[in-house]
Amino acid sequence: MSAQKLRIAVYPGSFDPVTNGHLDLISRCAPLVDRLIVAVLRNAGKQPLFSVEERVEMLRQATAEMPNVEVDSFDGLLVEYARRRGACLLLRGIRAISDYEYELQMALMNRRLAPEIETMFMMAGEAYSFLSSRLVKEVIALGGDVSGLVPPQVEAKLKERLPARFPARGTTGQSPV
Ligand code: ADP
Repeated sequence: MSAQKLRIAVYPGSFDPVTNGHLDLISRCAPLVDRLIVAVLRNAGKQPLFSVEERVEMLRQATAEMPNVEVDSFDGLLVEYARRRGACLLLRGIRAISDYEYELQMALMNRRLAPEIETMFMMAGEAYSFLSSRLVKEVIALGGDVSGLVPPQVEAKLKERLPARFPARGTTGQSPV
């Protein structure tokens, strides 16, 4: 009898930075598979706020208590990475209809490239369906409160990285913001 095949899923993304929305998805998917590999995309066209190494480190800290979750990074074709890692599933999250069209296109392209790999969508948790890394960065840059939306260590790193744009309330600072 052949050994049972491990169910390995890959959750790819920019994670710039990881939010509690990502973590909610990770914690709901991890019990369904043998191993969940959270994979930070290296060659995104976007200008990231954090380096790949920083994003991997933040994800590792945030998932340290989840024994079957691994954090890695990759570049090139996602399906090639998934094949190399022996994964049979790709995990993506859907927050709203606006996510759907792009995600559908990607899933269908990935299916064409690698029919043996299935894309699995999970709905965002209700509390996080409005949450994106981009929005968190915008709010932090304007001095807003993001506690409860990202892990505390991520919030600290965001404040470190985006301090100059904090509003200097009650001072006669020169900043026009
Ligand atoms: P990408 O640049 O690949 O979209 P992101 O880090 O923005 O990278 O998102 C990675 C995946 O996580 C995507 O499938 C996205 O829809 C999903 N996602 C992002 N934010 C949330 C959230 N708040 N709840 C559930 N899924 C989310």
